[in-house]
Amino acid sequence: MELLLILQVFIFGLVWGSFLNMAVYRVKHEMNFSGRSFCDHTKENLTWKDLIPLLSYIVYKGKCRHCGEKLPKIYPFVEVLTGTLFVFGFWHLWVNYLDKPLLGLNLLITIIYILFFLFFAIYDYLYWEVNVRAIKSALVSAAIFSILAIILNNYQLVIPGIGGFIGAFVAGLIIYLIVKSTKGSGMGEGDIYLMAFAGFVVGIDGLIPLFLISSVSGSIIGIIKALKIKKFHGVQIQFVPFISFAALAVFFWKDFILKILSLDDFFSLINNYL
Ligand SMILES: [Zn+2]
Repeated sequence: MELLLILQVFIFGLVWGSFLNMAVYRVKHEMNFSGRSFCDHTKENLTWKDLIPLLSYIVYKGKCRHCGEKLPKIYPFVEVLTGTLFVFGFWHLWVNYLDKPLLGLNLLITIIYILFFLFFAIYDYLYWEVNVRAIKSALVSAAIFSILAIILNNYQLVIPGIGGFIGAFVAGLIIYLIVKSTKGSGMGEGDIYLMAFAGFVVGIDGLIPLFLISSVSGSIIGIIKALKIKKFHGVQIQFVPFISFAALAVFFWKDFILKILSLDDFFSLINNYL
C-alpha cells in the first residue's frame, strides 16, 4: 500500500475518531446527534477551528480556545487510535480482498465493526458500563452481515457466515453461564451481548484467540495497575476495551494468530464442514 494512501486512510480514521468522541458523550448524556459541538466546560458553541481532529488539539496545546480549560487527553488518543485501526483494517482488505468482488461492501463492514468496538471500548473506559442499546444494534447488524455471508458464500466477505452464528452462540452462552454462576461479579447482560457480537465478527475458529488475547492482556494491565497503586485486592479494570481490541486483532489477523497457536490445521478441518 502506498504511503499517500495510508496517510489518507489515517486522516479518514481521525475524522471518525472525532465523531466517536462526540457520539460516546452524547449517547451517555442522552443527547441528540445533530446539535452543534460545544465546550464541555462553558457550553459555548465551538467553531471549525476547534474541531479539526488532532490538529486543533496540537495547535491550541490541549486547551480549549475559548475558556483555556484543559481538554481530556482521551480525545486526541481516540482519534489517533481510530486512524491507526482504520489503517490496519484497510491493510487487511488490501492484502486479502483487493482482487475479489464486493470490495465496497467489505470496506463498509470493516468500518462499521471498527467503530462499534471502539465505541464500546471508550464507553466502558470512561463510564465503567456497557450501553446495552448500542450493543443490541451492533448484534442486529452483525446477524444481517453474517446472513449475507451465508447467502454469498465462498469466502467473499471479510466475516464468517455460519461460523459467525455458531461463534456468537457459543461466546454468548459462555458469558451467560459465567454471569449466572457468579452473580454480581461485575459481568451482566451487556457483556453477554458484547461477546455474542464479538463471536459474530471472529467466528467459531476465532473464539480461542479472542478469549486468550483479551484475558491475557487484561490480566497484564490489571497487574500493572495493582503494582502502581500498591493494592492487590479488589483491583478493578474496565474489561470491554480488551475484548474489543482482541476481537479486532482476531478480525484482522485470524489466520496468522491461529498459526502461532498451532490451531490452524484443526480449524481448517472444521471449516470444511461449515
Ligand atoms: Zn471551553
